[in-house]
Amino acid sequence: MVELEDLPNVGSKTAQKLREAGFGDMMRLATATAKELSVKADIGEGVAEKIIEAARKAERIDFETALDVMERRKDVGRITTGSKALDELIGGGIETQAITEVFGEYGSGKSQLAHELVVTVQLPEDKGGLNGEAVFIDTENTFRPERVEQIANAFELNIEEVMERIYIARAFNSSHQILMAEKVNELIQEGKDIRLVIVDSLTSHFRAEYVGRESLATRQQKLNQHLHTLQNIANTYNAAIFVTNQVQARPDAFFGSPTKAIGGHVLGHAATYRIWLKKGLAGKRIARLVDSPHLPEGECVFKITNDGIVD
Ligand code: ATP
Ligand code: MG
Repeated sequence: MVELEDLPNVGSKTAQKLREAGFGDMMRLATATAKELSVKADIGEGVAEKIIEAARKAERIDFETALDVMERRKDVGRITTGSKALDELIGGGIETQAITEVFGEYGSGKSQLAHELVVTVQLPEDKGGLNGEAVFIDTENTFRPERVEQIANAFELNIEEVMERIYIARAFNSSHQILMAEKVNELIQEGKDIRLVIVDSLTSHFRAEYVGRESLATRQQKLNQHLHTLQNIANTYNAAIFVTNQVQARPDAFFGSPTKAIGGHVLGHAATYRIWLKKGLAGKRIARLVDSPHLPEGECVFKITNDGIVD
């Protein structure tokens, strides 16, 4: 295995800087940009470029054949949502190597789904999990351990073991949120088997901090940077990214084209899967897949119960 110190231009001091900035992993380094590296690790951009190039060589990052891509796609993992109907709608569960965005009005079940997934990702593969650990970046103080406990109980899992495998980050503002996402790289490099990263909510801090037309461009740019970090984690470590986004209820637009009708879809091309949640009658929720790389649009119904998400 190639170590940081083996790269040209990297002495022990630079190696330390790189590790502290979260670039301790060759693959992470290979997928960085020179600008990013120079800012975060305090290295000149010219040197950064050379280091990245060397890391790319070490990792053999180059053109790949369609066969390589096909092989990598075979590694895609899926995490069950708890509901068979919802799993089916999205092709078998929340996918790794992708970002899944759920959007909907308050109380539509976005955070409930997030709580379900930090448990189900820990299940063995034959039970719909990835035997992995989870990160929960909490921007609205919505994480509730008691809720995780209920769901873990429903799956007859050991509560303490489940709790120990969920890493919570409270993010106090958008910069903090961006930083915490970057720090996921460090967790993984320390040996944690993170297969799921939740950001609940992706957008609230950005919306609160960048108000008005004149700050729209900056907001978008920051959000893009954040999404880039998340996508990078998804690809580099075969992890699933699950982000939530609140939108206003527009009952009149439900059967129209929600992607066009509702503003605030900040994710643009980054989100590979996009699910619209809506409250239904008697505790039911309606999920509608509105965007996906390979699945048709469709709808399903699930329920939120004490045991978590069910059909
Ligand atoms: P927001 O935009 O405000 O963050 P959200 O989409 O994240 O909203 P959730 O917090 O996921 O909304 O959903 C809350 C709703 O989930 C509650 O209003 C309730 O209807 C339902 N719920 C929560 N816990 C349970 C439970 N134990 N049993 C049944 N339903 C529950
Ligand atoms: Mg919520």
